[in-house]
Amino acid sequence: MKAFSYERAKDPISAAQAVAGRTGAKFIAGGTNLLDLMKLEIEAPTHLVDVQDLGFDKIEVTGDGGLRIGALVTNTDLAADARVRRDYQVLTRAIVAGASGQLRNKASTAGNLLQRTRCPYFYDTNMACNKRSPGSGCAAIVGYSRQLGIIGVSGSCIATFPGDMPVAMRLLDAVVETIDSRGQQRSIPIADFHRLWGDTPHVETTLRPDELIIAVTLPPPLGGKHFYEKVRDRASYAFALVSVAAVIQSDGSGRVAFGGVAPKPWRVEAAESLLPHGAEAVTSRAFQGATPTKDNSFKLTLATRALASVIEQSKG
Ligand code: SF4
Repeated sequence: MKAFSYERAKDPISAAQAVAGRTGAKFIAGGTNLLDLMKLEIEAPTHLVDVQDLGFDKIEVTGDGGLRIGALVTNTDLAADARVRRDYQVLTRAIVAGASGQLRNKASTAGNLLQRTRCPYFYDTNMACNKRSPGSGCAAIVGYSRQLGIIGVSGSCIATFPGDMPVAMRLLDAVVETIDSRGQQRSIPIADFHRLWGDTPHVETTLRPDELIIAVTLPPPLGGKHFYEKVRDRASYAFALVSVAAVIQSDGSGRVAFGGVAPKPWRVEAAESLLPHGAEAVTSRAFQGATPTKDNSFKLTLATRALASVIEQSKG
C-alpha cells in the first residue's frame, strides 16, 4: 500500500473542501471497497478524508411519504429498517443478496453506489486496463469475458457495475443528494448518476470531484409485489451474473431493472409496458442492441429466464 495522509472531517463542507483542495484526495466511509483497492495499489489516494463523523446515519420519512436515507446508513441498518422491509422490500432483498454480513455491517449507502467494477483484469495490475490506467487498452475484450457486460459497454471497456442495492434504487427512482465545497446542494436522479463507459471508463459517475453524497431519497412506495432475483456462481458472497429487481402489480404491470449486465443498473422504461406479454417480450426490448461476447451471450437467456421466474412468482 502506498503512503497517504488522513483526517476526520467535522462537517460536510470542510470535507468537500479538503478533497477539492488536494490532488489525489478521496473521501472514505466504510472503506469496504476502497481499502481493498489501496492494498492492491489499484487506487493510491494521497490523502483520505474520513466522513464517518458527519452524522448522515438516519432514515427519515419525507414530506411526500417517501424515505430519506443518510449517506452513512449501513447496508445492514437499511435492509433491517421496518419501513424499508414493509414498503420497499425490493431494496431489503437486494441488499441482503450482496456481500456478507460483516461487509454489510460496515458498508455505507453512499459507498455502495460508488463501488467499482469487479472485472478480473481491473484487479490484475499486470493487465492492460483503460479503467485503471487510461489509454492502456482493455485485456478483457480479447480475454475471458464471462462475467462482463452485454449492453451499454464500449470499445474501451466492457466491465459491469457490480452492485445489487443500486439496481433496486434505480427501480425505485431514487435521487442522490450531494453537497460541494461551496456548500451547493444538488439532486441527481439515479438514472443519471452512473455513466456508460464510452471512451472514459475511469469516469464512473456524474459526481464532480468535490461533491460529497449526503443522502439518497426514495419516492413514496409503489405497492405491488417486490422481487430481487440474483443468479450467481455460488449461493452467497458472489457478484451477479444477472440480477432482476422487479415490482409487479396485481394487473401484471410493473417495473423491472437488471444488474450484472451493464456499466450501470439497467432499466429501460419502454420495455416495462411489455410485462403483461411475458419475459421474452420485456428482455427483447430491454436488451435491444446488446453486444455480448462469445463468453457471455448466455446472459441474455439468463436474464429472460430470471425475469420469467419473477413473473411466475408474482402470480402466486
Ligand atoms: Fe479494464 Fe474495463 Fe477492460 Fe476490465 S473491461 S480490463 S475494467 S477496461
